[in-house]
Amino acid sequence: MARPRLIFLGPPGTGKGTQAARMATRYNLTACSSGDALRDEIREQSEIGRQVNEYVESGTLVPDELITDVMLAAIDKFPESSGFILDGFPRTVPQAESLAVGMEKRSLPLDGVLDFQLDHRKIIERITSRRICSNCNRTYNLLFMPPAVAGQCDACGHKLLQRVDDCEDVIATRLATYEELTVPLVSYYTTRNLLHRIDADAAPDQVAEAVAAVIDRLLES
Ligand SMILES: [Zn+2]
Repeated sequence: MARPRLIFLGPPGTGKGTQAARMATRYNLTACSSGDALRDEIREQSEIGRQVNEYVESGTLVPDELITDVMLAAIDKFPESSGFILDGFPRTVPQAESLAVGMEKRSLPLDGVLDFQLDHRKIIERITSRRICSNCNRTYNLLFMPPAVAGQCDACGHKLLQRVDDCEDVIATRLATYEELTVPLVSYYTTRNLLHRIDADAAPDQVAEAVAAVIDRLLES
């Protein structure tokens, strides 16, 4: 295999975005989240971007097919020889199906799906420990990356705040929605022999080694 083409699955708070960035550097891959891809298309005011923007502005969910088009447009912009990590996409079985069709057309088969697993109680604990600087937007986590002085930004000394969405009720609702959509997705990839489980209940360095071990195995096969 040249470079691996991967999907990182998992609810918010599992650290999959952090791991996607680390693995992109380590293996020279392009990491792309659905949020990044959507914002890029909107900013570039492409045809797809204009369609996405209509949904975003009206506050309705962007349809599965359109999100897949956005991700495929992003994939088409990746360097040709580069492998990639899609972070947070697909989220539903229809998205996974249309992605598979698009990838087949491009002769870019998927090599693996890494499912980041963490107990919901621990996810809530992690997310409610997030803090953000009210001035420079630097982020902290009281569990992993606490500020040197409690409640104060290391960089600029301003007060640290909690995002409104980082409260227990909001997270619990998001997790329930996530679960409902992705349980079928996990079985979709399991039956295609693509799923690899990652225990996200460890320090970022340890999780990185577990993720790298999976990627190394995929590269050898
Ligand atoms: Zn600051």
